[in-house]
Amino acid sequence: MTDGAWTIDGGTVPVGLLGEPVAHSRSPRIHNAAFRAQGLPFVYVALPVRPADVAAAVRGLAALGFAGANVTVPHKQAVLPLLDTLSDQARAVGAVNTIVCRRAEDSTVLHGDNTDVAGFLAPLRGEDLEGAEMLIFGAGGAARAAAYGLLTAFRPSRLTLAARTPARAEGLARDLTAYDTRAALHPVPAAEAAPAVRAARLLVNATPLGMHPNPDGTPWPAAGFHPGQLVYDLVYEPARTRLLREAADAGARALGGLEMLIQQAAAAYIQWTGRAMPLKAVRAALASARPMTS
Ligand code: NAP
Repeated sequence: MTDGAWTIDGGTVPVGLLGEPVAHSRSPRIHNAAFRAQGLPFVYVALPVRPADVAAAVRGLAALGFAGANVTVPHKQAVLPLLDTLSDQARAVGAVNTIVCRRAEDSTVLHGDNTDVAGFLAPLRGEDLEGAEMLIFGAGGAARAAAYGLLTAFRPSRLTLAARTPARAEGLARDLTAYDTRAALHPVPAAEAAPAVRAARLLVNATPLGMHPNPDGTPWPAAGFHPGQLVYDLVYEPARTRLLREAADAGARALGGLEMLIQQAAAAYIQWTGRAMPLKAVRAALASARPMTS
């Protein structure tokens, strides 16, 4: 089936997004554009779930015949003990953003994955970063996925974790010790990161600073960028953040977070449908979306 053959009927299989809030999520647009383009009998719906209801919601996926779900803030850690199996990435990062309902004869196995890792790494494919010095701003969920991805894909000589709450960065470093074969992880308070910012070939913003509706924010207001650096902002709204503008003005290369958003979705989609996501249709659907206004 092709575009135009997509209908929602008695045979349609649901996929959900569990989180709170979910109303502004881009995921329904991404996945439904892909289902439509391929004429697949799936529909993606955003499902607001309160923290007290997470266990019931996850059990409900199996009971209601869902193919799976995405999981977003604030449930990415809470769902871990509710699942039957976990991918290596999900276990290492300590967070699940994708659930796959694997149906057997008379039961359903709930499998948890973290496709933020694959999504984060996808735009870095082909970059010469093996053994490089790197830095991540932030120490939350996205920083965890990024740090695990960088350690396992590029074996950096130094990976500085610059966070406003150093204890959180220290916890992240401790949790990833098993993957840190070169003792690369260095947690530092964000205010003391200037030497590491100058030395890093790759800098990643894994904080919400600069995100709509506060586009004047940046994790690094001081100067210090230079040609030869790649600055990767995981924020995707706006597409060109203050951090990326200032990095580009200083001669560094700038990479926004939209491609990560698309690629983490693609890595979930193939597990639910068995099909590669039609990226052209997805990019067109995102380009025609109205920018966020509130
Ligand atoms: P999170 O778990 O809440 O972590 C946020 C991190 O940013 C924490 O370390 C937090 O520090 C820090 N932070 C927050 N506000 C700050 C401020 N005003 N000044 C300094 N540090 C601040 O969030 P997350 O899930 O990691 O997401 C982080 C960002 O990545 C968001 O903008 C999200 O949209 C983006 N993201 C993008 C993608 C994508 O596909 N492109 C995927 C995932 C996430 P504290 O610990 O001190 O609070």
